[in-house]
Amino acid sequence: MTATLTLNNGVEMPALGFGVFQTPPDETTSAVEAALTTGYRHVDTAAAYLNEREVGEGIRRSGVDRSDVFIESKVWISDYGYDKTLHAFEKSARKLGVDQIDLFILHQPVPSSFDTTIDAYRGLEKLLADGFVRAIGVSNFRPTDLATLFEHTGVVPAVNQIELHPYFTQVEKQNVDAEHGVLTQAWSPIGGITSYRGSSRSAFDDPVIGGIATQHGKTAAQVMLRWHLQQGRSAIPKPTRPERIAENFEVFDFELSADELAAIDALDTGVRGGPDPESTSRETFKLEIPEA
Ligand code: NAP
Repeated sequence: MTATLTLNNGVEMPALGFGVFQTPPDETTSAVEAALTTGYRHVDTAAAYLNEREVGEGIRRSGVDRSDVFIESKVWISDYGYDKTLHAFEKSARKLGVDQIDLFILHQPVPSSFDTTIDAYRGLEKLLADGFVRAIGVSNFRPTDLATLFEHTGVVPAVNQIELHPYFTQVEKQNVDAEHGVLTQAWSPIGGITSYRGSSRSAFDDPVIGGIATQHGKTAAQVMLRWHLQQGRSAIPKPTRPERIAENFEVFDFELSADELAAIDALDTGVRGGPDPESTSRETFKLEIPEA
């Protein structure tokens, strides 16, 4: 049994996805294949991860029918603009080897030139209207970015994918998303960014989470994922090791109490691990997305 969430346009999306940020291309195919064999039916990639080709190959090798896999990908900022975003879809779809992407989202707001962000979103609206994507959304959007987007565009994003783990819960942002019918999706859902960026405090070693995990005979990662699912969020953990791919999927057979959920909520530090969305620009991120 896996939980399914219904997006604001009626499309159904498995709540638990499989992330592949920083998964090297030569490990991505086998990781995606293993994930689908384990039971995941949702993969989150991005043009900027430079592994969409390998994601597509992993899906094909798994033998799972394409129609049973929910594919999410992201437009990188160097491809923002109406026509460029239409072409970004062609690049991603060709690399993935598919005709349609289930959820296509803008990777970042670009606050210093938000007009190109809006033009990119209009491109997504066109792709949606033409049936090339089943749902569209955004990532790392703050309430102010959403407000500006709403002023200039018509389709409410189905999803806002943001940094969200026990040490950075962004409750106000979650509330604004919910008010507008935007589903909050957690990136770094098990707090990977609190460990791989060399922080002194890793959520995996948190004593409160560890205590709850012991009570349920589960691991810290499983408790964090269950916390997301019970609070109605989508979560897209990224494991590459086979045993962790399986571990992170074993989250549908236990229930956290209201007190346990509140204890995890209380761990919020208000400090993000990733980059501040305000700083995103073509100058700070020079990556260009290759043609398919
Ligand atoms: P994460 O999934 O919270 O953590 C990943 C890290 O945790 C990796 O180092 C992984 O190691 C390790 N790990 C995974 N499962 C584990 C387990 N059961 N026990 C112990 N360690 C475990 O963080 P993330 O990779 O930053 O984010 C997840 C996904 O979110 C990404 O893959 C990507 O799809 C998305 N994302 C989006 C954005 C954005 O701007 N929209 C930014 C970052 C991430 P191994 O890989 O070695 O197993």
